[in-house]
Amino acid sequence: MSETLPEGVKYVVPIKQVEKPIKMTDQAKTELQSSGMMDDKGKLKIKGVSPKMVKRMKLEAVDCPVLKQDIGFLQCYVCPNYFSRPVGKVYCKGDPL
Ligand code: SF4
Repeated sequence: MSETLPEGVKYVVPIKQVEKPIKMTDQAKTELQSSGMMDDKGKLKIKGVSPKMVKRMKLEAVDCPVLKQDIGFLQCYVCPNYFSRPVGKVYCKGDPL
């Protein structure tokens, strides 16, 4: 099935479930903190997202086509390549990181 991708989007990356949260890089943590989505203690607070949802998001991952490894969804969410999240997938701009 083919779909029309928004301009600038290179990859459609399926979101998968993992059993244990994938560790975030320090860079992703800094990114989350500077955008106010994580407090000093490392607790996530994302506007409009309930703690229950955050918990679920921690167990979501993508097989990142750019970094060629599994990336936790929250790290993907703050990645410069992140475009949007239609149901069950991530639109990724696919630029080199
Ligand atoms: S948005 Fe970033 S982390 Fe997510 S799939 Fe694309 S390059 Fe990988």
